[in-house]
Amino acid sequence: MPRCPYCGSEDLTPIKTWRFRFYEVTRYKCNKCGGIFQHYRNTTGRGKPEFYIRIKPKPSSTR
Ligand SMILES: [Zn+2]
Repeated sequence: MPRCPYCGSEDLTPIKTWRFRFYEVTRYKCNKCGGIFQHYRNTTGRGKPEFYIRIKPKPSSTR
């Protein structure tokens, strides 16, 4: 289960999914902090098994 790279929450909404080379990519929106990121999951066993790309950080909360 992917986790938000901004706040660590698992409460995520998948926005869309597509394939990129060896990876299955899912764009998520975090329901907790509102951050958007992509989760790359390797489907072939080559390279990194999975990683995250941060798209849009959480909106500034205190400033
Ligand atoms: Zn979050």
